[in-house]
Amino acid sequence: MMPGGGRCAACKYLRRRCPSDCIFSLYFPANDPQRFARVHKIYGASNVAKMLQQLPANLRAEAADSLSFEARHRVEDPVYGCVGIIHRLHQQIQNAETQLAKTQAQLFGFINTIID
Ligand SMILES: [Zn+2]
Repeated sequence: MMPGGGRCAACKYLRRRCPSDCIFSLYFPANDPQRFARVHKIYGASNVAKMLQQLPANLRAEAADSLSFEARHRVEDPVYGCVGIIHRLHQQIQNAETQLAKTQAQLFGFINTIID
């Protein structure tokens, strides 16, 4: 249960009492209702509860954060979700690697002209 006896964002959203051992309460605080709403929309509350329950307690906060991240980007981009971000970053890495290879080739060219 949330401090002060209030319900967590999940239990508020689901219009139920927040039990003392609520699986959501630590990760979906009442002051951020959108965080739970997005995760519920994409994964469904019972699936999120199952995913969190299957994890050791010390990993649940990170899992809740990544579910929230994925859900936010899936809502914003229904086709690619966070995969769109991964593709963009991958493209940036490839561009940087190409640029690095060109710069190294130029550098070796300069070094060779100095040595010769
Ligand atoms: Zn709750």
